[in-house]
Amino acid sequence: MSTHFYDEEFSTQTVIPSGNQLHSPVQRGTSMAVPKRKHSNSRTGKRRSHDALTPKQLTFCPKCSGALPTHVICPTCGYYMGRTVVESDEAGS
Ligand SMILES: [Zn+2]
Repeated sequence: MSTHFYDEEFSTQTVIPSGNQLHSPVQRGTSMAVPKRKHSNSRTGKRRSHDALTPKQLTFCPKCSGALPTHVICPTCGYYMGRTVVESDEAGS
Protein backbone atom coordinates (compact mmCIF):
# COMPACT_ATOMS: atom_id res chain seq x y z
CA MET A 1 0.00 0.00 0.00
CA SER A 2 2.67 2.48 1.02
CA THR A 3 5.06 1.40 -1.76
CA HIS A 4 2.40 2.00 -4.40
CA PHE A 5 1.92 5.50 -3.10
CA TYR A 6 5.69 6.12 -3.24
CA ASP A 7 5.93 4.98 -6.88
CA GLU A 8 3.23 7.40 -7.94
CA GLU A 9 4.89 10.29 -6.19
CA PHE A 10 8.30 9.44 -7.68
CA SER A 11 7.02 9.25 -11.26
CA THR A 12 5.44 12.66 -11.04
CA GLN A 13 8.64 14.34 -9.81
CA THR A 14 11.06 12.97 -12.44
CA VAL A 15 11.19 13.87 -16.13
CA ILE A 16 12.85 10.61 -17.24
CA PRO A 17 10.49 7.61 -17.28
CA SER A 18 11.19 4.84 -14.81
CA GLY A 19 12.18 2.43 -17.60
CA ASN A 20 15.10 4.65 -18.61
CA GLN A 21 16.18 5.19 -15.04
CA LEU A 22 16.96 1.51 -14.70
CA HIS A 23 19.59 1.93 -17.44
CA SER A 24 21.17 5.06 -15.94
CA PRO A 25 22.72 3.80 -12.68
CA VAL A 26 25.04 6.80 -12.40
CA GLN A 27 22.18 9.19 -11.89
CA ARG A 28 20.60 6.92 -9.32
CA GLY A 29 23.87 6.51 -7.41
CA THR A 30 22.92 3.04 -6.22
CA SER A 31 25.04 0.92 -8.56
CA MET A 32 28.67 -0.22 -8.48
CA ALA A 33 31.12 -1.96 -10.82
CA VAL A 34 30.42 -5.69 -10.98
CA PRO A 35 32.47 -8.33 -12.82
CA LYS A 36 30.72 -9.59 -15.91
CA ARG A 37 31.63 -13.25 -15.43
CA LYS A 38 33.30 -15.62 -12.98
CA HIS A 39 37.07 -15.45 -12.50
CA SER A 40 38.02 -19.06 -13.10
CA ASN A 41 40.24 -21.12 -10.80
CA SER A 42 42.71 -21.49 -13.67
CA ARG A 43 43.02 -17.74 -14.07
CA THR A 44 43.51 -17.24 -10.32
CA GLY A 45 46.23 -19.91 -10.33
CA LYS A 46 47.99 -18.30 -13.27
CA ARG A 47 48.04 -14.95 -11.47
CA ARG A 48 49.35 -16.50 -8.25
CA SER A 49 52.06 -18.46 -10.07
CA HIS A 50 54.34 -15.44 -9.58
CA ASP A 51 53.47 -14.87 -5.90
CA ALA A 52 55.79 -17.43 -4.33
CA LEU A 53 58.57 -16.07 -2.12
CA THR A 54 62.15 -17.30 -2.29
CA PRO A 55 64.17 -17.78 0.91
CA LYS A 56 66.70 -15.08 1.68
CA GLN A 57 70.29 -15.97 0.78
CA LEU A 58 72.40 -16.14 3.94
CA THR A 59 76.15 -16.36 4.44
CA PHE A 60 78.28 -16.65 7.58
CA CYS A 61 80.56 -13.95 8.90
CA PRO A 62 84.20 -15.10 8.58
CA LYS A 63 85.10 -13.31 11.83
CA CYS A 64 82.29 -14.25 14.25
CA SER A 65 80.61 -16.95 12.07
CA GLY A 66 77.15 -15.43 12.54
CA ALA A 67 74.50 -15.83 9.84
CA LEU A 68 73.85 -12.67 7.83
CA PRO A 69 72.53 -11.72 4.35
CA THR A 70 75.00 -11.38 1.50
CA HIS A 71 76.64 -7.99 0.82
CA VAL A 72 75.76 -6.78 4.32
CA ILE A 73 78.02 -5.59 7.12
CA CYS A 74 77.90 -8.02 10.02
CA PRO A 75 75.54 -6.53 12.64
CA THR A 76 77.37 -8.30 15.44
CA CYS A 77 81.03 -7.42 14.85
CA GLY A 78 80.88 -4.86 12.00
CA TYR A 79 83.10 -6.94 9.72
CA TYR A 80 82.82 -6.65 5.91
CA MET A 81 85.17 -7.35 2.96
CA GLY A 82 88.22 -8.20 5.05
CA ARG A 83 88.12 -5.34 7.56
CA THR A 84 86.06 -3.95 10.42
CA VAL A 85 83.85 -1.27 8.88
CA VAL A 86 81.68 -0.39 11.86
CA GLU A 87 83.06 -0.34 15.40
CA SER A 88 80.43 -1.93 17.62
CA ASP A 89 80.41 -2.09 21.42
CA GLU A 90 81.16 -5.79 21.42
CA ALA A 91 84.19 -5.42 19.11
CA GLY A 92 85.58 -2.39 20.98
CA SER A 93 85.49 -3.90 24.44
ZN1 LIG B 1 80.61 -10.90 12.38
